[in-house]
Amino acid sequence: MSIRLPSTAASEEAPSMSADPAVHELRPEERFVDSVAQLTLHRDIDALDHSLTLSLAELLRARHVLLYKCMGDDGVMESWVSCRQMEAGHYAVRPALPVETAAWQTRLRACQDGQRPGHSAGADGYHYVWTPIHKDGLVAGALMVEGGEPFDAISKVLDGFSRIYSNYVSLIREAERDKLTGLFNRSTLDRQLQRLLERVGLTHQGVAPERLWLAILDIDHFKRVNDTYGHLYGDEVILWLAQQLRSSFPAPNALFRFGGEEFVALLLGPDEAGVETMLERFRARMAAHVFSQIGTVTVSIGFVEVSTAGFSTQALDLADKALYYAKKHGRNQVRSYQGLIHAGALDGGVMSGSVDLF
Ligand code: GH3
Ligand code: MG
Ligand code: MG
Repeated sequence: MSIRLPSTAASEEAPSMSADPAVHELRPEERFVDSVAQLTLHRDIDALDHSLTLSLAELLRARHVLLYKCMGDDGVMESWVSCRQMEAGHYAVRPALPVETAAWQTRLRACQDGQRPGHSAGADGYHYVWTPIHKDGLVAGALMVEGGEPFDAISKVLDGFSRIYSNYVSLIREAERDKLTGLFNRSTLDRQLQRLLERVGLTHQGVAPERLWLAILDIDHFKRVNDTYGHLYGDEVILWLAQQLRSSFPAPNALFRFGGEEFVALLLGPDEAGVETMLERFRARMAAHVFSQIGTVTVSIGFVEVSTAGFSTQALDLADKALYYAKKHGRNQVRSYQGLIHAGALDGGVMSGSVDLF
């Protein structure tokens, strides 16, 4: 193998967060292979991001590795992950602080404009090396390393990791998306729920903490659309609805195609009334749209708050009860599970839901 990697001697005593302490006794090429194996262990992108920065920091003996991404659904979501060597020698991975990202903005712009790797030397003797991460031929992010190794020593490794990362992200994204709509598929619900629950309850400088809600949306009398006009027209309705969901509930909300004409939305919102208003606006938008061949199509919606202790199956079950109520009481409406309980409309809990949960 011709790659040149930094020697292992410099920081042999430094403890690290690597799962396997023996990793530092490996030869450089063995460490390289080990890093790639570590990286491809992961099945979700957050864990992959974490592992990428840590693997690179350990492999290159860097003092700081930053991953920048603008790879949200609509290309607008930006995120930074930072892996920094702490005084005790170990590495800590976390979202980057504004002061860290600010220092890299100029280099990032150069990276995006030039679409190629770059480097500079700091007055402190450290080297700053960066490389773009491509997606569909465009720069969708960057990997940036601050450490003792110069550009020539690490740029090829960095570029290789960037390519492995973007290939692997494409694979993960494909596996977690519904083919027709591009929304998440149901297998990713628990992971997305976990991700959003971590945000819930956090207070930011006096702003009210967010709460998490789960809504199930089901197209009304969809069988009729298919039976009368055919599946292609049915698919057009599904696609239109998915697009409207995306624009009405952008990231960090999470949207799923759960089954044929059933959708789930994980929504952040301050209170029940606010969430009901958002969903009601969506319902009205759907009902007002006129499809050229088939006219109007409506949607029924049930929703519930997801408590931090709750499981996704429980939240699905309760939202589904509210949806079932909406279906039984005229369709084309939004119903809140808590609201129905409060009104005594679901007393006894004997109603079974309409969505095929398993
Ligand atoms: P309700 O108002 O009670 O929900 O009635 P519905 O007719 O929508 O409900 P039902 O669950 O009986 O029918 C759902 C239909 O969705 C059955 C199937 O023909 C259709 N469907 C499921 N997946 C797809 C798909 O991918 N494309 C199209 N065009 N139709 C689909
Ligand atoms: Mg259905
Ligand atoms: Mg339906």
